[in-house]
Amino acid sequence: MKDISNHLPTAELQALDAAHHMHPFTEGDALAKKGAKVITRAEGVWLNDSEGNRILDGMSGLWCVNIGYGRTELADVAARQMRELPYYNTFFQTTHVPAIALAAKLAELAPGDLNHVFFAGSGSEANDTNIRMVRHYWAELGKPEKKIIIARKNGYHGSTMGGASLGGMSGMHAQGGLPIPDIHHIDQPDWWSEGGDMSPEEFGLARARELEKAIEKLGKDKVAAFIAEPIQGAGGVIIPPETYWPEIQRICDANDILFIADEVICGFGRTGQWFGSQTVGWRPDIMTIAKGLSSGYAPIAGSIVSDKVASVISGSEFNHGYTYSGHPVSAAVALENLRILDEEKIVENAGKVTAPYLKEKWEALTDHPMVGEAKIVGLMASIAMTPDKEGRKPFASDAGTVGLMCRERCFANNLVMRHVGDRMIIAPPLVISTDEIDTLIERARKSLDETYAKVKDEGLFKPA
Ligand SMILES: *Cc1c(COP(=O)(O)O)cnc(C)c1O
Repeated sequence: MKDISNHLPTAELQALDAAHHMHPFTEGDALAKKGAKVITRAEGVWLNDSEGNRILDGMSGLWCVNIGYGRTELADVAARQMRELPYYNTFFQTTHVPAIALAAKLAELAPGDLNHVFFAGSGSEANDTNIRMVRHYWAELGKPEKKIIIARKNGYHGSTMGGASLGGMSGMHAQGGLPIPDIHHIDQPDWWSEGGDMSPEEFGLARARELEKAIEKLGKDKVAAFIAEPIQGAGGVIIPPETYWPEIQRICDANDILFIADEVICGFGRTGQWFGSQTVGWRPDIMTIAKGLSSGYAPIAGSIVSDKVASVISGSEFNHGYTYSGHPVSAAVALENLRILDEEKIVENAGKVTAPYLKEKWEALTDHPMVGEAKIVGLMASIAMTPDKEGRKPFASDAGTVGLMCRERCFANNLVMRHVGDRMIIAPPLVISTDEIDTLIERARKSLDETYAKVKDEGLFKPA
């Protein structure tokens, strides 16, 4: 067998990658031509690539490496667990210590009566579990026709058939016959793009009340649940007006539906508290967790379920589960990750020290000629690029043209900043230092300047 290692030349690794590796959310032919960046090592907030670049990871991988790279404690725990009990299932009246300990720890961390955990391997799987669970819940209560789940356009809930159906990404629905039946989407609370002449406050209320209208239209006796991210992540770090969140909670309370908070990004410190629901004042019946649960060191996810829901589900057999539900190695790694986040006060420090520091620098980016709004909660932030700040206009070019240009400038300047359309977004590891934030902002500004110059050069600095 060919020895493929870090020692091969980059071009050779890229050629093998192009020949055999299919990338998620990627146009394969275009990538093959260009060659993928080969990431070789990482430490703290820094990635190394095969060309010797040191790149500041402003996205925590895919929003998951909350604890930062290079924590060898997690590797030690994984090795120990693999030697002791590498695998066992929890299907047939058996259990194991890592699953017990992690479920108990999550029950302790989660607010209110969220005391029960159903494990999955990924956020998408956990949301599939949620679809099954909320429908089963109402069926058990004698209301099997209560099965519609309301979600939001431009929300993201994963990429399985269920997860992508809950999500409101039109590009995903366009492939493979989605969404599945009995999923209904309402509009997102993105004031910058869709607020028109309304004040942000009016708009926040109006968008929340779409939930109430949808429940009325579909019928209270048909709607099982509402699912939303406390703050939309993949949709572009859309932070709604303050009026939105309490109105959503009021409507869920008033209409006898279950409320699912998808905390896959917002959980585990991202918003400056343990859960995004605490930051935005939601009291969900179920929380989806993944990503920061293990800081991405091992695949694991789950649904944290309230006493109310669990007590109904536990009354009969729930015909659902995954081979890797509560995988002992992943569970042990997650537990160690939570121990470090907790004992080193990483979540607390992110909320009290790092987030305010980043907020000041981030919001100052609005002085840039191409930056319309700059939004931030905790350590997730976005800017809207625009050729017309006053009119909040998009560019005349296809959405994402300028965003992609900016992302490429960021890459060239050794900063990972992602684009969603023409919004630029960051979600750095919670352990980022104030010095590293200065570096991040410096590189972001340089990249914005270079993008601005290029956009003007190419005659693209004009509104639609
Ligand atoms: C990433 C994400 C998911 C899907 O998680 P996977 O582990 O990729 O399946 C679900 N919900 C939200 C909010 C996410 O950001």
